[in-house]
Amino acid sequence: MQTTLIVGTCQAGVQLAATLRDLGDADPIVMIGEEGHRPYQRPPLSKGWLKGELEPDDVILRTRQWYEDRDIQLIAGDRVVTIHREPGGSGVAHTLGGRQIPFTRLALTTGASARRLALPGTDYRGVHYLRDADDAISLGPALAEPGAERVVVIGGGFIGLEAAAVARQLGKKVTLVEGTGRLIGRVVAEPTSDFYLAAHRRRGTEVILGARLARILGEDASAAGRRGSVTGVELEDGRVLPADLVVVGIGVIPRVELAVQLGLDVAGGIVVDSACRASDGRTVAAGDCAIMPNPYPAGLGGMIRIESVNNALEQAKIAAATLLGQDASYSTVPWFWSDQADLKLQIAGLSAGYDSVVVRGEPDAERFAVLYYRDGRLIAADCVNQPAEFLAIKQVLAKGRTIPPLAAADTGVPLKQSVVDAPVALAS
Ligand SMILES: Cc1cc2nc3c(=O)[nH]c(=O)nc-3n(C[C@H](O)[C@H](O)[C@H](O)COP(=O)(O)OP(=O)(O)OC[C@H]3O[C@@H](n4cnc5c(N)ncnc54)[C@H](O)[C@@H]3O)c2cc1C
Repeated sequence: MQTTLIVGTCQAGVQLAATLRDLGDADPIVMIGEEGHRPYQRPPLSKGWLKGELEPDDVILRTRQWYEDRDIQLIAGDRVVTIHREPGGSGVAHTLGGRQIPFTRLALTTGASARRLALPGTDYRGVHYLRDADDAISLGPALAEPGAERVVVIGGGFIGLEAAAVARQLGKKVTLVEGTGRLIGRVVAEPTSDFYLAAHRRRGTEVILGARLARILGEDASAAGRRGSVTGVELEDGRVLPADLVVVGIGVIPRVELAVQLGLDVAGGIVVDSACRASDGRTVAAGDCAIMPNPYPAGLGGMIRIESVNNALEQAKIAAATLLGQDASYSTVPWFWSDQADLKLQIAGLSAGYDSVVVRGEPDAERFAVLYYRDGRLIAADCVNQPAEFLAIKQVLAKGRTIPPLAAADTGVPLKQSVVDAPVALAS
């Protein structure tokens, strides 16, 4: 009998357990997660949850019954701190709470944690991060307080922009500061960045690009009788942005500590192959913690770590099959979404390595798509309020076909009519 231990109980961990059962594995499965909550979805935390529209049950991934029905043992609120592994592969995980969990198969779905701001003043009350349920449980009510009039968001990535959009919808005065020259610059091309800059400004958020932060300001701790509250953010040029609340969203750091301890290859994430197998050939890893060969389009080369629900689910399915000795490899088109106010961004494919873009539609009308090309072949697209175009493009990518750039730019012609075979092999 084989016992599978899954460390990390979020999107990837739960999907991995589900797939093991779907594939017919009847052996014991133990899942352990350090958070004191039943496994839940993170995306609503910066959207509906922050707006106060959701109850805890709305974000829970599976009911208690679901685990019972599948005979999956779920341990919440305890952290695996060390893993001892025998040369044969079996081992024992030791937890902070004193548990010893024997296993024969091991899956790491340890995700990522919020990158911390290295500045003086981050411990003032009112400085929040937004990665997990506890963050959201404290930020939600703090944002809803009438006294929290001025909100400064640090970081112009997806989390920062979603939080800024919600704060504006709640009527707050919002200032967003981003250190680089454009928003979401790590993921999207300039036309999409420029659009989001204009769109957030149109909705009343003040956006400062290229901002260098000096420190977080707060009231005198002794005057408050406890740790003082945040009062503002000071920039290196001396400007002070007054704040009753600060939300920090400056990216994440993959949780690789157990992988390091196990001697697995780690380079910006737990290094896995396209079957989600780590460097020891028997541990699997999936989700935000894993870095894998760029899956799309094939042949492009390089390694990529993707932070998205879709990726966590797809990798988890592959990792489960691999644990059972079945052949599986990442072959679907990655996709992602972000909701900011009434703007739905959907991204199909991976734009890494693009050499040109085509804008289809009118960004000012808040309905358009940015298509990414490499060697004349479509590899990805950002679609804003264009769900039908997103689906069409995702299908084109899945079939390995393309849309010639000139045709893609012509909104008079439906995308589907312009699809052709992709003749060019991509050079890595
Ligand atoms: C606020 C927010 C909004 C988001 N919005 C979107 C969105 O709109 N669209 C989208 O596609 N993606 C979104 N994402 C990203 C998406 O939620 C993540 O990509 C996804 O949750 C990754 O799942 P995961 O299981 O790999 O990792 P995680 O969700 O990070 O889960 C890993 C779990 O492992 C636990 N863990 C780690 N180490 C140990 C240990 N040693 N012992 C026990 N437990 C451990 C962690 O505590 C954590 O609970 C969002 C993320 C956040 C935070």
